[in-house]
Amino acid sequence: MHRRSSSYTVIVAGLGAMGSATVYHLARRGVRVLGIDRFAPPHAMGSSHGRSRIIREAYFEDPLYVPLVQRAYELWDELQNEAGREILVRTGGVMIGPPGGTVAGGAVRSAIRHGLPHERLTAAQLHERIAGFRPTVDMIGVWEPRAGYLVPETAIGAHLEIAERHGAELRTGETILDWSATTDGVEVRTTNAVYSADRLVLALGAWMPRLIRDLGLPLAIERNVLYWFKPARATTLFDRDRFPIWLCEYAPGLVWYGFPDAGHGVKVALHHQGTLADPDALRRDVEPQEIAYIRALLRTFMPAADGPLVETAVCMYTNTPDEHFIIDRHPGCSSVIVASPCSGHGFKFSSAIGEQLAMLATDTDPTFDLSPFRIARFAIEPE
Ligand SMILES: Cc1cc2nc3c(=O)[nH]c(=O)nc-3n(C[C@H](O)[C@H](O)[C@H](O)COP(=O)(O)OP(=O)(O)OC[C@H]3O[C@@H](n4cnc5c(N)ncnc54)[C@H](O)[C@@H]3O)c2cc1C
Repeated sequence: MHRRSSSYTVIVAGLGAMGSATVYHLARRGVRVLGIDRFAPPHAMGSSHGRSRIIREAYFEDPLYVPLVQRAYELWDELQNEAGREILVRTGGVMIGPPGGTVAGGAVRSAIRHGLPHERLTAAQLHERIAGFRPTVDMIGVWEPRAGYLVPETAIGAHLEIAERHGAELRTGETILDWSATTDGVEVRTTNAVYSADRLVLALGAWMPRLIRDLGLPLAIERNVLYWFKPARATTLFDRDRFPIWLCEYAPGLVWYGFPDAGHGVKVALHHQGTLADPDALRRDVEPQEIAYIRALLRTFMPAADGPLVETAVCMYTNTPDEHFIIDRHPGCSSVIVASPCSGHGFKFSSAIGEQLAMLATDTDPTFDLSPFRIARFAIEPE
């Protein structure tokens, strides 16, 4: 039996990385906000689990992300102070690959464009600085001092707890079935109730296509695996004060990346080499050939980390064709804001994206130019 509940100024659908940051910013502004999630975030069913997410500033994907990540850094620091828990760990970072390649070349481009501190290291200098990593001679490393990693579960938990303290109402274990436009806002139907609000923010991650089917957006859900390896022999080589976060283009267009050992082993993964997936039927076991592939990379580049595999986790990217984000109003209903498909590189920005979404949802002009993230670039006509 559906209960018709009272009305809100904003409903945030999905309380993962983007949604938790959005309810936080709305609640701190005193907005009457309801957040809804089908699971109980932070959880391991979507795109925001696995103990760490890279944050870096010399953004190889495109210099346009640099100001947004700089704002994200400020907000992560604020959240960390407010929560009194470690959320942002600064290890430094190195973008490794051929000099003109996507990763190293792109990082240099962003660093120069935005005047960011960075150092260009030869393969030998890189190995000297980070003894746990052995690049091939044709690679360079672009060192950036401010890079590091975020602890996603702690970040999401902190955003939600503080949002609640500021009056946000959160409903978990409640699935949104659909939404519809009304004369003065939106109505949201869940497994438990029907809610109404002036504005709706859709931050549904890999499930986003289900609730914006009418837009026919070309979104693809990609399965990705995270691996934790214990070094075969006790070593300090991968401690977080000696070993930074890194991304490495090991063949043209093929990228893997990793983190220091924060107590669970060295975490490594492939970037954008996963298979297409259905979020409700995601294969969470990992095939021996997947493990063999990543172990071969480990043997080549980080031989001291090539010990027992201690854990794996499976996670989902929500990809757009150009791998840029979507942050925009629904073209057929301006009360609805669509924000999520972040193509496997969105977590670091979520504090800042949440702030921009809170502005959009309260009809305040965003402080960043969000035009690169418009839906219209896909030339989709709403039905
Ligand atoms: C393996 C992996 C590694 C990554 N590494 C990095 C990295 O190093 N750095 C980085 O910046 N980014 C990284 N990313 C990307 C980043 O983690 C994602 O962009 C980000 O976490 C996505 O957040 P989200 O809020 O869109 O999705 P989620 O955090 O998955 O949140 C979506 C929420 O919506 C809820 N939901 C869905 N449907 C419904 C419904 N019908 N009703 C109610 N609730 C619903 C879900 O339960 C979920 O909680 C990585 C992603 C993966 C998968």
